[in-house]
Amino acid sequence: MMKLLQVHYLCLRINILRVMAFELPKLNYDYPALEPYIDAKTMEIHHSKHHAGYTNNLNNAISDTDFKNQSIEEILKTENLPTAIRNNGGGYYNHCLFWEILSPTPKPGSKAFIDLIEKTFGSCDSMKEEFGKAAATRFGSGWAWLCAQNGDLSICSTANQDNPLMRQGCGGTPILGLDVWEHAYYLNYQNRRPEYIKAFWEIIDWAAVESKYQASL
Ligand code: MN
Repeated sequence: MMKLLQVHYLCLRINILRVMAFELPKLNYDYPALEPYIDAKTMEIHHSKHHAGYTNNLNNAISDTDFKNQSIEEILKTENLPTAIRNNGGGYYNHCLFWEILSPTPKPGSKAFIDLIEKTFGSCDSMKEEFGKAAATRFGSGWAWLCAQNGDLSICSTANQDNPLMRQGCGGTPILGLDVWEHAYYLNYQNRRPEYIKAFWEIIDWAAVESKYQASL
């Protein structure tokens, strides 16, 4: 009898946790699918260890707080977030976005979206150059971003797992992000971050980026 009760209690807790908790998303492709641009081992560790770690740590950090009833966007927009929620909430959100905008079969954006990029940056190559510079010059760990705000595009970078929703030197809604933490590229590229940045352009699903842009309007 005692044992049955314990089992029941355990299941109840798991069910409650599942309702409240953020979940590690499944990828739309297999770990080796992005080769040779991102290798399978890096993808596996990045998703199943790093992203899983941020997800679990976020769930632990919000478990006894009012944040557990909020969306990840609402959490990240909160000023003066506790450090554990800022780091792991950013890590959870940033990697969700990263997996979504990558694809082994990338689709192009619409002509209207390409026109917007050209109007904003002069050309697609100029946009890539500016974004690549933001990614290459981010000292230490962080992210480079293409953001949308009131229909306009801009490029910036953030440190650690911060992101533009936190309004820390960046603004707007991130629609494209590149992880420049060493864990994202070191197995394959070692210290050659510029090569990793160059490879990134080959696996961006611009249709996914554009749909994030549309959702921001
Ligand atoms: Mn990462």
